[in-house]
Amino acid sequence: MSSPASPFVVTDGRHFRLHRMDPRGSSHLSLSKEEAAAQLPDAVARLAALQEKLYAHSRWGVLLIFQAMDAAGKDSVIKHVLSGVNPQGCQVAAFKVPSSEELNHDFLWRTTARLPERGRIGVFNRSYYEEVLVARVHPELLDNQKLPAELVTAQIWKERFEDIAAFERHLARSGFVIRKFFLNVSKEEQRQRFLKRLEEPAKRWKFSLGDVRERERWDDYMRAYEDMIRHTSSPDAPWIVVPADRKWFAHHVVAAAVIEALEQLDLKLPTMRAPQRRDLERAKGELERQAPKRS
Ligand code: ATP
Ligand code: MG
Repeated sequence: MSSPASPFVVTDGRHFRLHRMDPRGSSHLSLSKEEAAAQLPDAVARLAALQEKLYAHSRWGVLLIFQAMDAAGKDSVIKHVLSGVNPQGCQVAAFKVPSSEELNHDFLWRTTARLPERGRIGVFNRSYYEEVLVARVHPELLDNQKLPAELVTAQIWKERFEDIAAFERHLARSGFVIRKFFLNVSKEEQRQRFLKRLEEPAKRWKFSLGDVRERERWDDYMRAYEDMIRHTSSPDAPWIVVPADRKWFAHHVVAAAVIEALEQLDLKLPTMRAPQRRDLERAKGELERQAPKRS
């Protein structure tokens, strides 16, 4: 049976076209909002159980990357899908405008420092992909990056795609499972969410004038996202182009993709050899003998 995420998974981006992906995911809807809401707790529980095995096994690690336009729902997906996971097994890092210390290093430095350990699920809320997204839409940002001028050529984006792909291949070969989510929200849905942020006092803090300025560059961003997906999708580190106009559907697709990635590892709880089992039996007997005497 194919997973609910499969129609949105890109493992080979060579022919990928973003305009073919519907932000509402309508033609793939096999369930209603109510059904999806009813299934989510089960998915969250499965994820928690899988994460426990991942932790007990402590060989594999998982990296989940989230990229999106503003108000596409990154925070909400992370909150809902990972809500059941033991906080000790999950490491979330959000990447904002780089600090001057970060700009003193290569562009993979700050994210490398926040990679998950084996046995953990690491979540990147934005990532090194900003280096081929916001930096591509605003190439003036390259001036802050302190690169030697002769290295900033017309090839820079292609070189970054190559470096990112090589880095992800290295991670995969080191035992880290990568899934990258682009929350594909439509321009109209973003407009409505911005308006809601302005209209509802409880949501107003989320609104930023900068977000409206970036919205003006929508088409440039979509071109950058498309090119990024075309060049950095691979079987080991696929992009999942999540229809994000309906949050409940986005949660459903992301949860399914993460569960599938963990299930593929076929993790078993550690098994014990006979001498270890005998030691544990002995410890159990000892603890039982220490029970307080009933008078
Ligand atoms: P939210 O708005 O929901 O709080 P957010 O992820 O949009 O979450 P912000 O603080 O609003 O967080 O925005 C972070 C900003 O940092 C984004 O505009 C993003 O493009 C920018 N940013 C992230 N990484 C880089 C980078 N490497 N170079 C330049 N800008 C970056
Ligand atoms: Mg923002």
